[in-house]
Amino acid sequence: MKYYDRIEFADQDEIRRIQGIRLKNTVYQATASRFYRGKLAMAGIRVSSVNQAEDITSLPFTTKEDLRANYPDGLLTMPVDRMVRLHASSGTTGAATVIYHTSNDLNSWAGLVARSMHAAGVRSWDVFQNMSGYGLFTGGLGIHYGAERLGCLTIPAGAGNSKRQIKMLKDFKVTVAHIIPSYALHLGSVFDDLGINPRSLQLKIMLIGAEPHSEEVRRRIEAIYGVKAYNSYGLSEMNGPGVAFECEAQSGMHLWEDSYLAEIVDPKTLEPVPDGEVGELVLTTLCREGMPIIRYRTRDLTRFIPGDCPCGRIHKRIDRITGRSDDMIVLKGVNIYPMQVEKVLMSIPEVGQNYVIELERKGYLDQMRVKVEIRDEFFVEDMRTLQALQQKIAGLLREEILITAKVDLVEHGSLPKNQGKAVRVVDKR
Ligand code: AMP
Ligand code: ZN
Repeated sequence: MKYYDRIEFADQDEIRRIQGIRLKNTVYQATASRFYRGKLAMAGIRVSSVNQAEDITSLPFTTKEDLRANYPDGLLTMPVDRMVRLHASSGTTGAATVIYHTSNDLNSWAGLVARSMHAAGVRSWDVFQNMSGYGLFTGGLGIHYGAERLGCLTIPAGAGNSKRQIKMLKDFKVTVAHIIPSYALHLGSVFDDLGINPRSLQLKIMLIGAEPHSEEVRRRIEAIYGVKAYNSYGLSEMNGPGVAFECEAQSGMHLWEDSYLAEIVDPKTLEPVPDGEVGELVLTTLCREGMPIIRYRTRDLTRFIPGDCPCGRIHKRIDRITGRSDDMIVLKGVNIYPMQVEKVLMSIPEVGQNYVIELERKGYLDQMRVKVEIRDEFFVEDMRTLQALQQKIAGLLREEILITAKVDLVEHGSLPKNQGKAVRVVDKR
């Protein structure tokens, strides 16, 4: 069975045609909400003028600030009693935003997640452990219902309690896990502490996502567990997981274009970037009735990957998220993304599984301090060896980010661990 849903292998024309119809429908539906009635009227948009996918560019953008200003239910197109669930974003960059779902919305979301997992090679006979936090975070229930839809035996493990996670992985012969990448690295060191080889488990696939991570981190996770790891992208405003997912080719994430209309724009001019260039991802829901969102500025930076995917799916692929337009570090006039630092650190064999970037101000000068956990076997007493390692890391970082960072080497397990998404940058300025 090559596909889960026939639409995965539809051709470009069919996808564009479906997008046109669904976009019109979405705009029509949106006018039933207080927020969009006003916004679309202000922009002079009539439903009759939206007929094809290309008409998206005539519509106004929606921002996180819009969602906050209309908190909690200003975007609902129906009375609250038609809604059956509510989720909220993790709010790493300010107050939370809330998304409501009708039962139809949940139904199509579960279908998207099932389709995504299937594309990554998961099948109904797999035993699936969901190690992401449940509650308002969409990585819990969002993935959960998709896995059940696919037919997997689904274990709602939730986040944390590493020893119990490991016991469940073993006892239930888990073959597929969903896990946040920073936690996957941490769990690897718990396996080490317990003297259990993670490669001795039945695990063959890990679905990793919800936070930015580099190719180097993926490769580390694959090596630790002896699995294939697939990148999963989503955000609460667009349901959550199931927006874009890697297929078995591991060469970018297919963005499900029958359900989301995607654009990549220059975050300053808001004009489309030339094909294949990096910009801000802008998304429109095409299948949501309770709370449709038009041209949502995700702040996530990525690009469309040109060319065809070997798997044959037509749905456009987006590249690994390089960062968010609002998490760019500006230091001494240089723009740096935390992922650049991660890429360097994770390519150094002596470096362990955790790091944190601190920004500090010394007098008038800003400086970056990178605290790096070192693997036990390299954490020696000999000062000279450690200093040499410190210099090596600083040197490799300088090549990538063009500034000299202070590097602190710390013992394995000494940096703070987060239950959910990792906090990689602490700005003390
Ligand atoms: P939330 O809605 O709280 O789950 O947060 C969604 C945000 O998490 C997205 O806008 C991205 O910034 C980030 N995110 C989710 N999945 C990924 C991924 N696979 N790679 C990088 N960042 C991700
Ligand atoms: Zn593919």
